[in-house]
Amino acid sequence: MVDSPSLPAFPLDSDLTDCLLTTLRDFESLQAFISSSKFIYSIFRCRQNSILGAVAHSQFGLALPQAMRLVKCLDRNHSSGLAHELQCEADFAQDFTITPAQARLLQNHAAIVRALEDIYSWREKDPRFKSSQLSAAESLRFQKSVYRFWLLAAMYGPGAVVDERLGDRGGNHLELKDSIVTKQITFLLSFGEVELLGIDEVHGFFLDLAEWALVKHTTSPTRARFSDRNDIFLVWSGPAVILDAFRGKWPSFRLVNSQWYGTWRAMTYAFFASEIGSITGGRVLSTIRQRFILDDHFLENVDCSRCEGLPSLSRADSLWSLCNWEYMILTITPSRLGSFLSFEKRRPLEMLMSFTEAIESIPYPQFIEEIFDVRSEGYKDWKKEDWLCTQCMTKMLSGNIQTWFDERATGAGASRDPSVSHVVPSG
Ligand SMILES: [Zn+2]
Repeated sequence: MVDSPSLPAFPLDSDLTDCLLTTLRDFESLQAFISSSKFIYSIFRCRQNSILGAVAHSQFGLALPQAMRLVKCLDRNHSSGLAHELQCEADFAQDFTITPAQARLLQNHAAIVRALEDIYSWREKDPRFKSSQLSAAESLRFQKSVYRFWLLAAMYGPGAVVDERLGDRGGNHLELKDSIVTKQITFLLSFGEVELLGIDEVHGFFLDLAEWALVKHTTSPTRARFSDRNDIFLVWSGPAVILDAFRGKWPSFRLVNSQWYGTWRAMTYAFFASEIGSITGGRVLSTIRQRFILDDHFLENVDCSRCEGLPSLSRADSLWSLCNWEYMILTITPSRLGSFLSFEKRRPLEMLMSFTEAIESIPYPQFIEEIFDVRSEGYKDWKKEDWLCTQCMTKMLSGNIQTWFDERATGAGASRDPSVSHVVPSG
């Protein structure tokens, strides 16, 4: 019987091992590496600061100051502090210390930002792909903007207000509310115009995502506890909560006092619409999306395959194909679909309820697919892969929804094998 060969000692000396550790591209790889051998771990422990710093630079690149600022401010529990009390991005341009706990937080944040970038890219850059298609420069602008908004939400969002209410100042609601709003604005004005546009753009994206999460999970029992206004709470609870909600994991809001709703609503609809709008020549950013983050996007040269109408909104909000039907739920909402039925079919309440049940019993993209499957002769050369504007898509749906509903009612449609899967990145 042959003896098992003994494991060779790690072939590199201390200095080379140290050098090797500093070349790793992210904290995940570092964690795996130092867990593999006691010798490597001992080298890491001796030179922890320089190794963590080098890996952080590799992983975050030029977005490191924004990512570090968030982690440091969270670590020191600066919530509700004044802007000048917070550490600046410039503090993290040179040497600084990263603890292993902060490295873990950085890693967690990076995973969330990466997942959001995938969705953002699919939504805004190129709906044909689920993974990020952003260029290096676009990705950097996206990441910086997300970390800045994240800090804003962490310092002055619902979580911070709850903390402050429990502190020494608790009690005077109006005073506290004014104080939070003033601090939010002071914090935002500490950024330049270009940075503000980036913050606004991710804010708009998060608002979309929050609304989408609410509509998408409309049949969930959890949804019943949420009112429409909770998109605002989701946005101001920060990127981690928004991503969770989008994936169907709902937060348990500790703050349900409706008086506070106005605080973040004001930030969403007043500040971003007027103050930032004034920077951009008075245009309201909620309807005309600024392209600070993206240099270009796939749909900018795509037109409706059925008409020559110009989109009234951005193309990402008004051109639809198989790959982004799921997002269309925000534009052609399930509640609108009932109005496409003929008057006779809508009239008895039971019929309308049965229609709503049929719609809610299947995923939205599957519903669109089934409409295409039953389309009448006049629509036979309309393809699922074609790009349709909202108007043409509405025509297609309203022209065939009656047939679909009749088939469903008789059981013919319900037996159809669903062939559309969710197209949203799972992260
Ligand atoms: Zn069209």
